[in-house]
Amino acid sequence: MTKTVKDYIRTIVDFPHEGIMFRDVTTLFADARGFRMAIDQLLNPYAGRPIDKVVGLEARGFILGGAVAHQLSTGFVPIRKKGKLPGAVISEAYQLEYGEAVMEVHDDALKPGERVLIVDDLLATGGTAEAGIKLCHRLGAEVIGCAFVIDLPELGGRKRLEGLGMEVHTLAE
Ligand code: 5GP
Repeated sequence: MTKTVKDYIRTIVDFPHEGIMFRDVTTLFADARGFRMAIDQLLNPYAGRPIDKVVGLEARGFILGGAVAHQLSTGFVPIRKKGKLPGAVISEAYQLEYGEAVMEVHDDALKPGERVLIVDDLLATGGTAEAGIKLCHRLGAEVIGCAFVIDLPELGGRKRLEGLGMEVHTLAE
């Protein structure tokens, strides 16, 4: 039977904490056919549409986003965890289950009116992606879509992002 993207993803039980089922995409990235399939499917709805930049969310969004940007012939912009980017940044804090996290982007990484596609490996609560969307909007960019390999629908991320008016594209649940 033909393998799907989902077949290349493995689950690691009790990582990073007991009770968590971690969806591990390194096995997808390591397989030539699986990786190409994931990239092709991620960018498929966006091919031929005007996109200026692909924005990747740290860290697996860099691997996917870089390949998508190459294929769409766009630039690539990283959104990173606090303290990692060398230049002047703007920051956006968001809630985690325990505590908060902060994502940052260089303050000159996007120009007003640029059309961006946000890419990450997995959509759970949508908090990380929402922080990324807000950072893009604060720089004046237009987010034309958010693409993820995996959606965990029970955590509500898709509804949250669609509630912000976002077009959400995912490959597997
Ligand atoms: P959210 O902010 O939507 O709750 O969580 C999504 C973020 O956490 C993404 O950046 C994603 O990489 C990471 N993440 C959370 N759980 C998992 C998981 O089980 N597997 C992977 N690969 N990433 C996860």
